[in-house]
Amino acid sequence: KAKQYVGSHYIFYTDMMKDSVKREFKIRNYLHSAIENDEFELWYQPIVELSTLKIVGAEALIRWHQPKLGFLPPDQFISIAEKSGHIHQLGKWVLKQACIQTKKLHQQGFSKQYVAVNVSVKQLENEYFAESVCGILNETECKGELLMIEVTEETSISDSQKVQMNLGKLAKLGIKCSIDDFGTGFSSLAKLHELQMNQLKIDKSFIWDIEKSEKIVLAILSMGKNLQLRVVSEGIETKEQLEFLARAGSDFGQGYYFTKPLPFEAYQVFLSEWQSNKERIN
Ligand code: C2E
Ligand code: MG
Ligand code: MG
Ligand code: MG
Repeated sequence: KAKQYVGSHYIFYTDMMKDSVKREFKIRNYLHSAIENDEFELWYQPIVELSTLKIVGAEALIRWHQPKLGFLPPDQFISIAEKSGHIHQLGKWVLKQACIQTKKLHQQGFSKQYVAVNVSVKQLENEYFAESVCGILNETECKGELLMIEVTEETSISDSQKVQMNLGKLAKLGIKCSIDDFGTGFSSLAKLHELQMNQLKIDKSFIWDIEKSEKIVLAILSMGKNLQLRVVSEGIETKEQLEFLARAGSDFGQGYYFTKPLPFEAYQVFLSEWQSNKERIN
Protein backbone atom coordinates (compact mmCIF):
# COMPACT_ATOMS: atom_id res chain seq x y z
CA LYS A 1 0.00 0.00 0.00
CA ALA A 2 2.71 2.39 1.11
CA LYS A 3 4.65 1.65 -2.00
CA GLN A 4 1.63 2.29 -4.16
CA TYR A 5 1.00 5.53 -2.34
CA VAL A 6 4.56 6.63 -2.68
CA GLY A 7 4.45 5.52 -6.28
CA SER A 8 1.38 7.51 -7.21
CA HIS A 9 2.61 10.48 -5.26
CA TYR A 10 5.84 10.34 -7.20
CA ILE A 11 4.01 10.24 -10.52
CA PHE A 12 1.80 13.13 -9.53
CA TYR A 13 4.85 15.14 -8.60
CA THR A 14 6.70 14.53 -11.86
CA ASP A 15 3.59 15.37 -13.87
CA MET A 16 3.37 18.69 -12.11
CA MET A 17 7.05 19.28 -12.74
CA LYS A 18 6.62 18.41 -16.38
CA ASP A 19 3.68 20.77 -16.72
CA SER A 20 5.51 23.68 -15.19
CA VAL A 21 8.61 23.06 -17.26
CA LYS A 22 6.44 22.83 -20.37
CA ARG A 23 4.65 26.03 -19.49
CA GLU A 24 7.89 27.86 -18.86
CA PHE A 25 9.22 26.61 -22.17
CA LYS A 26 6.09 27.86 -23.96
CA ILE A 27 6.25 31.25 -22.26
CA ARG A 28 9.89 31.60 -23.22
CA ASN A 29 9.05 30.86 -26.85
CA TYR A 30 6.04 33.14 -26.97
CA LEU A 31 8.06 35.98 -25.46
CA HIS A 32 10.11 36.00 -28.61
CA SER A 33 7.45 37.55 -30.81
CA ALA A 34 5.23 39.17 -28.18
CA ILE A 35 6.59 42.69 -28.55
CA GLU A 36 6.26 42.82 -32.33
CA ASN A 37 2.79 41.31 -32.02
CA ASP A 38 1.87 44.11 -29.66
CA GLU A 39 0.71 41.79 -26.88
CA PHE A 40 1.90 43.84 -23.90
CA GLU A 41 0.12 46.60 -22.13
CA LEU A 42 0.99 48.87 -19.21
CA TRP A 43 -1.50 49.31 -16.42
CA TYR A 44 -1.21 52.14 -13.95
CA GLN A 45 -1.69 52.38 -10.22
CA PRO A 46 -1.69 55.82 -8.60
CA ILE A 47 0.78 56.89 -5.91
CA VAL A 48 -0.92 59.18 -3.42
CA GLU A 49 0.59 61.80 -1.11
CA LEU A 50 -0.90 60.83 2.24
CA SER A 51 -0.98 64.30 3.80
CA THR A 52 -2.99 65.83 0.93
CA LEU A 53 -4.46 62.78 -0.85
CA LYS A 54 -3.13 64.17 -4.12
CA ILE A 55 -2.03 61.76 -6.80
CA VAL A 56 1.62 62.52 -7.49
CA GLY A 57 2.40 59.80 -10.00
CA ALA A 58 1.70 56.24 -10.98
CA GLU A 59 3.48 52.94 -11.13
CA ALA A 60 3.45 51.28 -14.55
CA LEU A 61 2.78 47.54 -14.28
CA ILE A 62 3.11 45.25 -17.27
CA ARG A 63 0.35 42.90 -18.46
CA TRP A 64 0.52 40.35 -21.26
CA HIS A 65 -2.40 39.27 -23.42
CA GLN A 66 -0.99 36.04 -24.82
CA PRO A 67 -3.34 34.67 -27.51
CA LYS A 68 -2.94 31.02 -26.41
CA LEU A 69 -2.31 31.35 -22.69
CA GLY A 70 -4.64 34.25 -21.98
CA PHE A 71 -4.02 37.13 -19.63
CA LEU A 72 -0.70 36.88 -17.82
CA PRO A 73 0.39 38.94 -14.80
CA PRO A 74 4.10 39.81 -14.55
CA ASP A 75 4.88 37.26 -11.84
CA GLN A 76 4.30 34.59 -14.49
CA PHE A 77 6.80 35.83 -17.04
CA ILE A 78 9.26 38.46 -15.74
CA SER A 79 11.57 35.95 -14.09
CA ILE A 80 11.48 33.82 -17.25
CA ALA A 81 12.33 36.89 -19.35
CA GLU A 82 15.22 37.58 -16.97
CA LYS A 83 16.57 34.07 -17.45
CA SER A 84 16.11 34.04 -21.22
CA GLY A 85 17.51 37.51 -21.80
CA HIS A 86 14.24 38.87 -23.22
CA ILE A 87 14.13 41.28 -20.28
CA HIS A 88 16.40 43.76 -22.06
CA GLN A 89 14.11 44.20 -25.04
CA LEU A 90 11.00 43.99 -22.88
CA GLY A 91 12.40 46.51 -20.41
CA LYS A 92 13.03 49.01 -23.20
CA TRP A 93 9.50 48.56 -24.48
CA VAL A 94 8.16 49.26 -20.97
CA LEU A 95 10.26 52.40 -20.54
CA LYS A 96 9.30 53.75 -23.93
CA GLN A 97 5.60 53.05 -23.51
CA ALA A 98 5.66 54.60 -20.01
CA CYS A 99 7.32 57.74 -21.39
CA ILE A 100 4.86 58.00 -24.29
CA GLN A 101 1.83 57.65 -22.05
CA THR A 102 3.16 59.97 -19.34
CA LYS A 103 3.84 62.59 -22.00
CA LYS A 104 0.21 62.19 -23.07
CA LEU A 105 -0.96 62.85 -19.51
CA HIS A 106 1.13 66.00 -19.46
CA GLN A 107 -0.38 67.21 -22.68
CA GLN A 108 -3.76 66.75 -21.05
CA GLY A 109 -2.74 69.01 -18.20
CA PHE A 110 -1.64 66.48 -15.58
CA SER A 111 1.64 68.26 -15.59
CA LYS A 112 3.14 67.08 -12.32
CA GLN A 113 2.60 63.36 -12.70
CA TYR A 114 5.65 61.14 -12.72
CA VAL A 115 5.82 57.51 -13.76
CA ALA A 116 7.53 54.75 -11.79
CA VAL A 117 8.91 51.90 -13.86
CA ASN A 118 10.14 48.58 -12.48
CA VAL A 119 13.64 47.77 -13.65
CA SER A 120 15.26 44.40 -13.21
CA VAL A 121 18.81 44.16 -11.88
CA LYS A 122 19.64 42.31 -15.11
CA GLN A 123 18.90 45.49 -17.03
CA LEU A 124 21.12 47.55 -14.74
CA GLU A 125 23.95 45.08 -15.19
CA ASN A 126 23.92 45.85 -18.91
CA GLU A 127 26.65 48.30 -19.79
CA TYR A 128 24.46 50.29 -22.18
CA PHE A 129 21.32 50.54 -20.09
CA ALA A 130 21.65 54.23 -19.18
CA GLU A 131 22.42 55.14 -22.79
CA SER A 132 19.32 53.33 -23.97
CA VAL A 133 17.20 55.16 -21.41
CA CYS A 134 18.70 58.44 -22.58
CA GLY A 135 17.78 57.49 -26.16
CA ILE A 136 14.21 56.72 -25.12
CA LEU A 137 13.87 60.07 -23.33
CA ASN A 138 15.05 61.90 -26.45
CA GLU A 139 12.90 59.89 -28.80
CA THR A 140 9.73 60.37 -26.75
CA GLU A 141 10.59 63.95 -25.73
CA CYS A 142 10.04 63.02 -22.13
CA LYS A 143 12.02 64.66 -19.32
CA GLY A 144 14.12 62.52 -17.00
CA GLU A 145 12.50 64.28 -14.03
CA LEU A 146 9.22 62.55 -14.92
CA LEU A 147 10.74 59.14 -14.54
CA MET A 148 11.40 57.12 -11.40
CA ILE A 149 12.85 53.66 -11.57
CA GLU A 150 12.02 50.97 -9.02
CA VAL A 151 14.72 48.46 -8.27
CA THR A 152 14.69 45.60 -5.81
CA GLU A 153 17.07 45.10 -2.92
CA GLU A 154 18.79 42.51 -5.11
CA THR A 155 20.29 45.48 -6.94
CA SER A 156 22.32 46.42 -3.89
CA ILE A 157 23.91 43.00 -3.62
CA SER A 158 24.83 42.71 -7.28
CA ASP A 159 28.59 42.88 -7.46
CA SER A 160 28.51 44.25 -10.99
CA GLN A 161 30.24 47.63 -11.25
CA LYS A 162 27.87 48.43 -14.08
CA VAL A 163 24.91 48.78 -11.72
CA GLN A 164 26.48 51.69 -9.89
CA MET A 165 27.68 53.24 -13.14
CA ASN A 166 24.19 53.05 -14.67
CA LEU A 167 22.53 54.43 -11.55
CA GLY A 168 24.96 57.35 -11.57
CA LYS A 169 24.23 58.12 -15.22
CA LEU A 170 20.48 57.87 -14.65
CA ALA A 171 20.74 60.30 -11.73
CA LYS A 172 22.51 62.77 -14.04
CA LEU A 173 19.52 62.53 -16.39
CA GLY A 174 17.30 63.63 -13.49
CA ILE A 175 15.81 60.16 -13.02
CA LYS A 176 14.96 59.21 -9.44
CA CYS A 177 15.40 55.79 -7.98
CA SER A 178 13.31 53.88 -5.50
CA ILE A 179 13.92 50.59 -3.69
CA ASP A 180 10.94 48.30 -4.12
CA ASP A 181 9.63 45.68 -1.68
CA PHE A 182 11.86 47.08 1.04
CA GLY A 183 12.35 44.84 4.05
CA THR A 184 12.05 41.51 2.24
CA GLY A 185 15.60 41.26 0.90
CA PHE A 186 19.02 41.13 2.39
CA SER A 187 20.46 44.44 1.34
CA SER A 188 22.96 46.26 3.46
CA LEU A 189 21.90 49.71 4.54
CA ALA A 190 25.40 51.00 3.84
CA LYS A 191 25.21 49.80 0.25
CA LEU A 192 21.75 51.27 -0.24
CA HIS A 193 23.03 54.59 1.03
CA GLU A 194 26.01 54.42 -1.28
CA LEU A 195 23.73 53.82 -4.27
CA GLN A 196 22.04 57.15 -3.51
CA MET A 197 18.47 56.02 -3.64
CA ASN A 198 15.78 58.69 -3.37
CA GLN A 199 12.94 56.64 -2.02
CA LEU A 200 11.97 53.33 -0.52
CA LYS A 201 8.76 51.37 -0.76
CA ILE A 202 7.77 49.34 2.27
CA ASP A 203 6.76 45.88 1.11
CA LYS A 204 3.05 45.15 1.17
CA SER A 205 3.44 42.13 3.44
CA PHE A 206 4.23 44.51 6.35
CA ILE A 207 1.25 46.72 5.57
CA TRP A 208 -1.20 43.82 5.40
CA ASP A 209 -0.05 42.60 8.76
CA ILE A 210 0.31 46.05 10.21
CA GLU A 211 -0.69 45.00 13.70
CA LYS A 212 2.10 42.46 13.96
CA SER A 213 4.53 44.52 11.90
CA GLU A 214 3.85 47.90 13.48
CA LYS A 215 7.32 48.18 15.02
CA ILE A 216 9.03 47.20 11.79
CA VAL A 217 7.03 49.74 9.80
CA LEU A 218 7.83 52.47 12.32
CA ALA A 219 11.51 51.53 12.22
CA ILE A 220 11.58 51.70 8.42
CA LEU A 221 9.82 55.07 8.47
CA SER A 222 12.29 56.55 10.92
CA MET A 223 15.22 55.11 9.05
CA GLY A 224 13.84 56.63 5.86
CA LYS A 225 13.60 60.02 7.54
CA ASN A 226 17.15 59.80 8.87
CA LEU A 227 18.57 58.86 5.48
CA GLN A 228 16.41 61.53 3.82
CA LEU A 229 14.58 58.99 1.73
CA ARG A 230 10.94 59.42 0.90
CA VAL A 231 8.86 56.46 2.00
CA VAL A 232 5.97 54.91 0.08
CA SER A 233 3.74 52.29 1.68
CA GLU A 234 2.55 49.64 -0.75
CA GLY A 235 -0.51 47.45 -0.59
CA ILE A 236 -2.83 49.75 1.37
CA GLU A 237 -6.20 48.01 1.33
CA THR A 238 -8.13 49.48 4.25
CA LYS A 239 -8.96 52.82 5.76
CA GLU A 240 -7.34 51.70 9.03
CA GLN A 241 -4.05 50.98 7.29
CA LEU A 242 -4.20 54.34 5.51
CA GLU A 243 -4.86 56.25 8.71
CA PHE A 244 -2.14 54.46 10.63
CA LEU A 245 0.42 55.12 7.90
CA ALA A 246 -0.54 58.77 7.45
CA ARG A 247 -0.22 59.32 11.20
CA ALA A 248 3.08 57.45 11.34
CA GLY A 249 4.50 59.76 8.68
CA SER A 250 4.63 57.66 5.53
CA ASP A 251 4.94 60.27 2.76
CA PHE A 252 3.10 58.32 0.09
CA GLY A 253 0.85 55.33 -0.31
CA GLN A 254 -0.35 52.97 -2.97
CA GLY A 255 -2.87 50.16 -2.91
CA TYR A 256 -6.26 48.71 -3.76
CA TYR A 257 -7.85 51.08 -1.23
CA PHE A 258 -7.32 53.85 -3.79
CA THR A 259 -7.65 51.61 -6.83
CA LYS A 260 -6.28 48.47 -8.42
CA PRO A 261 -3.95 49.04 -11.39
CA LEU A 262 -5.95 50.26 -14.39
CA PRO A 263 -5.43 50.16 -18.17
CA PHE A 264 -4.21 53.54 -19.46
CA GLU A 265 -7.60 54.79 -20.72
CA ALA A 266 -9.32 53.88 -17.46
CA TYR A 267 -6.46 55.43 -15.51
CA GLN A 268 -6.90 58.74 -17.35
CA VAL A 269 -10.57 58.76 -16.38
CA PHE A 270 -9.70 57.88 -12.79
CA LEU A 271 -7.19 60.74 -12.59
CA SER A 272 -9.65 63.31 -13.95
CA GLU A 273 -12.35 62.21 -11.55
CA TRP A 274 -9.97 62.21 -8.63
CA GLN A 275 -8.81 65.73 -9.40
CA SER A 276 -12.33 67.04 -9.74
CA ASN A 277 -13.43 65.35 -6.54
CA LYS A 278 -10.76 65.25 -3.87
CA GLU A 279 -13.38 64.50 -1.26
CA ARG A 280 -14.06 61.04 -2.57
CA ILE A 281 -11.88 59.32 0.00
CA ASN A 282 -13.27 60.09 3.43
P1 C2E B 1 5.79 45.54 -7.46
O1 C2E B 1 6.66 46.43 -8.27
O2 C2E B 1 6.08 45.44 -6.02
O3 C2E B 1 4.32 46.06 -7.75
C1 C2E B 1 3.27 46.02 -6.83
C2 C2E B 1 2.38 44.81 -7.05
O4 C2E B 1 1.42 44.78 -6.00
C3 C2E B 1 1.57 44.87 -8.34
O5 C2E B 1 1.35 43.53 -8.78
C4 C2E B 1 0.25 45.49 -7.86
O6 C2E B 1 -0.84 45.18 -8.69
C5 C2E B 1 0.12 44.84 -6.52
N1 C2E B 1 -0.68 45.63 -5.56
C6 C2E B 1 -0.72 46.96 -5.42
N2 C2E B 1 -1.53 47.31 -4.42
C7 C2E B 1 -2.04 46.18 -3.91
C8 C2E B 1 -2.98 45.89 -2.85
O7 C2E B 1 -3.50 46.77 -2.17
N3 C2E B 1 -3.26 44.58 -2.63
C9 C2E B 1 -2.71 43.59 -3.38
N4 C2E B 1 -3.05 42.33 -3.12
N5 C2E B 1 -1.82 43.82 -4.37
C10 C2E B 1 -1.49 45.10 -4.63
P2 C2E B 1 1.61 43.11 -10.28
O8 C2E B 1 1.14 44.18 -11.21
O9 C2E B 1 1.08 41.73 -10.46
O10 C2E B 1 3.19 43.07 -10.39
C11 C2E B 1 3.94 42.14 -9.67
C12 C2E B 1 5.41 42.43 -9.79
O11 C2E B 1 5.88 42.22 -11.11
C13 C2E B 1 5.79 43.86 -9.46
O12 C2E B 1 5.83 44.04 -8.06
C14 C2E B 1 7.15 43.97 -10.11
O13 C2E B 1 8.14 43.43 -9.28
C15 C2E B 1 6.98 43.08 -11.33
N6 C2E B 1 6.73 43.92 -12.52
C16 C2E B 1 5.57 44.49 -12.94
N7 C2E B 1 5.75 45.19 -14.09
C17 C2E B 1 7.06 45.06 -14.38
C18 C2E B 1 7.89 45.57 -15.45
O14 C2E B 1 7.47 46.31 -16.34
N8 C2E B 1 9.21 45.21 -15.41
C19 C2E B 1 9.76 44.43 -14.41
N9 C2E B 1 11.06 44.13 -14.46
N10 C2E B 1 9.01 43.95 -13.41
C20 C2E B 1 7.69 44.26 -13.39
MG1 MG C 1 7.32 48.27 -8.14
MG1 MG D 1 6.62 46.24 -4.44
MG1 MG E 1 7.65 42.97 -6.26
